[in-house]
Amino acid sequence: MSVATVQVPEVGNAVEAAIWFVAGQPGGARRILLEHHRRDDGQCAGCLTVPVSWPCVVGVIATRALSLDSGR
Ligand SMILES: [Zn+2]
Repeated sequence: MSVATVQVPEVGNAVEAAIWFVAGQPGGARRILLEHHRRDDGQCAGCLTVPVSWPCVVGVIATRALSLDSGR
């Protein structure tokens, strides 16, 4: 696995670490996206305690992890 070929611009190291953590788990990103997805009103369906406009941070992490996963 080559880290150098993956471009993850404009995200902090913590977010990048979370992306790799999720990408390393089989089905992890898809499981997250089952909960965190865009509702009809534009809010995230998984972030219910505080309404968050989609995409939320968790959604961004899972989406990027999924693109890493499928690009393998
Ligand atoms: Zn969310």
